[in-house]
Amino acid sequence: MPSLDSLEAAGPHKLTADRRRRWWIALATTVLVVGVGMSIVGALLWHSDVRHRDRQSFQLTASNVTDTLATRLRRDVNFALTVRGLLTMMPQLSTTSFDTWYGALDEQHQVGTFGEFLPLFGGPLDSVQTSWQRTLLTSARDTGQLVASSAPAGGLPTMVLDSAVYRRGATLATVDQRRHSLVGWAIATFDLPRLLDIAQTNLSVALYHQNPGQPAQLVDRVGPAITGQSLTSKRTLSINGPWVVEVRGLAATSSLTDVQQSLLVFALGSIASLLLFALITVLGRSRARALAMVEEKTVELRHQALHDSLTGLPNRVLALDRAEQMLARARRAQMPIAALYIDIDGFKHINDTWGHPAGDRFLQIVATRLQTVIRESDTAARLAGDEFVVLLDASSLDVGPQLVAERVLDVLREAYDMGDEIGRRLAVTASIGVAYGLRGSAEELLADADVALYVAKSEGRNRYVVFESGMQTIAQDRLMLKMDLSDALEAEQLYLVYQPTFDLRSGRATGFEALLRWRHPERGVIGPDVFIPIAEETGAIVPIGRWVLAEACKQVARWRSQGHELGISVNVSGRQLDDDSLILDVHDALADSELDAGALTLEITETALMHDTDASARRLGALKYLGVRIAIDDFGTGYSSLAYLRQFSVDALKIDRSFIAGVAASDESAALIHTLVRLGKTLNLETFAEGIEDPEQLHALRLQECDMGQGFLLARPLDVEAADAFLDAQGTGALA
Ligand code: C2E
Ligand code: CA
Ligand code: CA
Repeated sequence: MPSLDSLEAAGPHKLTADRRRRWWIALATTVLVVGVGMSIVGALLWHSDVRHRDRQSFQLTASNVTDTLATRLRRDVNFALTVRGLLTMMPQLSTTSFDTWYGALDEQHQVGTFGEFLPLFGGPLDSVQTSWQRTLLTSARDTGQLVASSAPAGGLPTMVLDSAVYRRGATLATVDQRRHSLVGWAIATFDLPRLLDIAQTNLSVALYHQNPGQPAQLVDRVGPAITGQSLTSKRTLSINGPWVVEVRGLAATSSLTDVQQSLLVFALGSIASLLLFALITVLGRSRARALAMVEEKTVELRHQALHDSLTGLPNRVLALDRAEQMLARARRAQMPIAALYIDIDGFKHINDTWGHPAGDRFLQIVATRLQTVIRESDTAARLAGDEFVVLLDASSLDVGPQLVAERVLDVLREAYDMGDEIGRRLAVTASIGVAYGLRGSAEELLADADVALYVAKSEGRNRYVVFESGMQTIAQDRLMLKMDLSDALEAEQLYLVYQPTFDLRSGRATGFEALLRWRHPERGVIGPDVFIPIAEETGAIVPIGRWVLAEACKQVARWRSQGHELGISVNVSGRQLDDDSLILDVHDALADSELDAGALTLEITETALMHDTDASARRLGALKYLGVRIAIDDFGTGYSSLAYLRQFSVDALKIDRSFIAGVAASDESAALIHTLVRLGKTLNLETFAEGIEDPEQLHALRLQECDMGQGFLLARPLDVEAADAFLDAQGTGALA
């Protein structure tokens, strides 16, 4: 299975994006090439089509023109033959009679030139002016055919049709018979403009006639002079002899030549292809851009899905996936890995006191610090709220997970600079549960680390605990206890025991420290180390602490009323100090018990004080105003700054049990106790040693001039009955 990281690292699919871009370019280019190609083919087709159409339309026009001309020619020839027939019948016909005959013709038959009748004349051909005309007339006589010639007559181009007129009834089988029967010539003239009136501007029409025994002669030509490339139609008409009509025309029917037209087709086609090419390119590019954006967004979303938005650390999903990958590698290499489940102690308090923005800022600092502790191959992730996990692979574990856990605790313990709005540095601790080795799954690994964390919390926080089998039961127990604790107070299962405190110089008992106990219906008596952290976690410590104050004050007031000059020390949890209601609770306890305020000492731990130093100082001030004494409990275990000893109005330092345990045996502890006692003396504070278990310790403390003491050696915590007995037995001095 691919890891989520590898999926994420793959990022926008560069390859596919490139392939897609290339595909679009190929498409656009293909369209361009095909388009231009089709334009060329289209232009060629257009070209041939234009030529074809041109030729067709020319052929049509030409044949129309030729037909018209043929009709007119036939009519003219008929007229000429009619004139010959008339003259054959009436050789003596005078010009006037001819005119009369012509005038009587239907208008449509008056095709010859009006009034142009040349009378028949006999005599030798020699009288004809030109030899050419003579030749023509001779061949007309010898063949009986019409001969044609053109000549201008009266300023107009004229066609002349001559024909031989023979004696009526003569046999005309041979040339000789024709020569002998000749009586003259009939001559008909025709207006050429009328004959060749074709009303076509772009056509040139030429009419040729071939007289017998002669080459074809041009009769006339009309229309523009057409040279070079042109279309030609030539038709031979047989109308009493061969006539040739030649029609010439220009190819182009439109204002553009066929080449121009096909170039236009090519140009238009190419432009269209270019536009299409551009369109596809633009489309492709914007599509690519859109896809790139989508991919970018996808990567962003994937990142968001796998990371915590506040700290930028991997989230639970990615952490589990990485743990799974690490486990798989570790299993192959047969190497251990570790998960450190980290929880900030009292994070809720930060949120409650300074608001969520401050809480967020704090978590960001935590995230940054965690990242400084781990190596690149490791992972720091945020699982939820103030819960983080650090995953370590074998390469980071050569020193063991304990050292890393300690390093994490150290960096998280450093003061937090929360910026101007809070204006002070926060002191916070963390608890860590460590799961080490190999597990079946990442879930299992984290679950074990979580159990160890649970144990670390229940053992008093500000520590790490490495998971051991059997811890699950502890965790389950704790969960059960949590539920049971919620009604322990109401069910009156809580009670106080009293451990006497002594003046070490005189050896006299000076009072008691009230210590809480829980008589659990099934489990018997449970110590505060087990259930106080749970009560702090759930907040139950606030009403419980209120009850302890009231109960302890009442009890010591009773003893005092019996004549014992005693003080009472009550432990106050950090959670109680977080609220102004503590001041009211103390006031009420004193008022209800009518206890002298000076007889009450509140024991507050260093870490509780350092949580929110300003608020702590203010509340301590208010408590001092009530007249109670303040002792700093477990002194030396936090990272005490001596400065705050002045800032807080404190009366006593209770030196932590751990130092007392070494006071007789180790020089180091002795030196430390010496320093602390001196410090107390300098600041005019009472010094108090707790956990004195053997006479050597007591001796050493007395040598150091420690003021007060408490411990199993002197007296165990006592229930009320035992305390009564203790007080009774307390004569002049029980201290040995
Ligand atoms: P602490 O304030 O340090 O209380 C003294 C603890 O040391 C008591 O444990 C006491 O029984 C024990 N102790 C006294 N002399 C000796 C000795 O010679 N040797 C050893 N090994 N231990 C000795 P306990 O009663 O189990 O209380 C544990 C802690 O629970 C207290 O530590 C205190 O922090 C907390 N606690 C107890 N009662 C209350 C309470 O009413 N309210 C709050 N907030 N915390 C309490
Ligand atoms: Ca105490
Ligand atoms: Ca203590």
